[in-house]
Amino acid sequence: MAVCERLENCGFFKKYKDSYKGICTALIAEYCNYTETSKLCERKKIFNETGVSPDDDMMPNGKMVDEV
Ligand code: SF4
Repeated sequence: MAVCERLENCGFFKKYKDSYKGICTALIAEYCNYTETSKLCERKKIFNETGVSPDDDMMPNGKMVDEV
């Protein structure tokens, strides 16, 4: 199973892939590691629609890291 094609360019992934924040680890496992579920990622939707990467602290579910 392939990972999200934006993985290497994704600010959220780069910032939080080695973090100890459980929510980030869980969301990376859920969204980033699979091409199919990554299609549901709010970050990817925004990038695809606008061409602009959202703030690094926006998570794949659309919430900000600080909100959890
Ligand atoms: S946060 Fe979204 S865009 Fe970034 S690597 Fe994960 S699934 Fe892809």
